[in-house]
Amino acid sequence: MKKHNFSAGPSILPQEVLLKASEAVVDYNNSGLSLIEISHRSKDFVDIMENARALVLELLGLEGKGYKALFLQGGASTQFLMVALNLLETRAGYLNSGSWAAKAIKEAKLYDDVYEVGSSKDANYNYIPKGYEIPEDYDYFHCTSNNTIFGTQMKSFPKTNVPMVCDMSSDIFSRTLDFSQFGLIYAGAQKNMGPAGTTLVVVKEDILGKVSRKIPSMMDYQVHIDKGSMYNTPPVFPIYTSMLTLEWLKNKGGIAAIEKENEKKASLMYSEIDLNPLFKGFAVKEDRSFMNATFNLTNDNLKDTFETMLKEAGISGVNGHRSVGGYRASMYNAMPIESVKALVEVMSELESKA
Ligand SMILES: *Cc1c(COP(=O)(O)O)cnc(C)c1O
Repeated sequence: MKKHNFSAGPSILPQEVLLKASEAVVDYNNSGLSLIEISHRSKDFVDIMENARALVLELLGLEGKGYKALFLQGGASTQFLMVALNLLETRAGYLNSGSWAAKAIKEAKLYDDVYEVGSSKDANYNYIPKGYEIPEDYDYFHCTSNNTIFGTQMKSFPKTNVPMVCDMSSDIFSRTLDFSQFGLIYAGAQKNMGPAGTTLVVVKEDILGKVSRKIPSMMDYQVHIDKGSMYNTPPVFPIYTSMLTLEWLKNKGGIAAIEKENEKKASLMYSEIDLNPLFKGFAVKEDRSFMNATFNLTNDNLKDTFETMLKEAGISGVNGHRSVGGYRASMYNAMPIESVKALVEVMSELESKA
């Protein structure tokens, strides 16, 4: 039986994408060869790479606006240092809204002055800091659009003249935004796009080339841009699978269409959390994430009963991150509303039993 997969990452992908991807591993496009045993310089793979890069810009509405899409390696965690290497000349501002943001700050501090313009660490990151200033002389401002672990999400972004860099690992392609307000966006594929192993970077080319340090080739965005995201052997399978997910999304009507589904799933989930006295949401209401809902039982004695019921209903991956505890329901693009309904049913059944 296919389970209801609420895993935070690596996470759910559309079933049709998994099927197509698995076929390509055995025999790509009836070529008699596997996708993962052909040259990345072959026409077959170059077409995949170009299609994937173009789909990214198309879906984000960034075509013809000076942006380049890259599929790199090393996860979002490598972007924490790559951003600083490429953009940090004297000082930068960071919004400390969660553990991933804190890790990005730690890496950037290795290179130059980094200031926390706002932080919600005081409340174990259960809200998004607001009302902060970004000085005009900063090289860039870095934020995390969705805090996967804590279940908070930025609903608006500051107006600033300094380039805005955003870690969108867990909510990219999930909601409509004016993506041209960002100078650089990055996202590990494994939350909303594909398997682990590739990281999407979307960068406005004119923000590059302004630092004086020497940048190692593999760490240099410009090198990757100049080589068409093929400076070295790219992770062909994660990129192909990501391309399939992007095509799936485009066929569904793009981000605007999936956003409506995501809103429905989130509102179903949060209304149960709010109405059911056995549960309490972790994140403050105004900052709640539409991707990752975090919640706790109000009565710990029900833990075993609840978890047995979840298991029996085929619900997988709802355990909270160790730094928050409780539960976390990740409802990425590929999750059907039926899975959220199944979880909500178990929660209300628990209430009627208790
Ligand atoms: C998962 C995650 C990361 C880390 O991604 P890796 O690809 O494992 O390095 C960074 N930022 C956010 C917001 C995440 O959700």
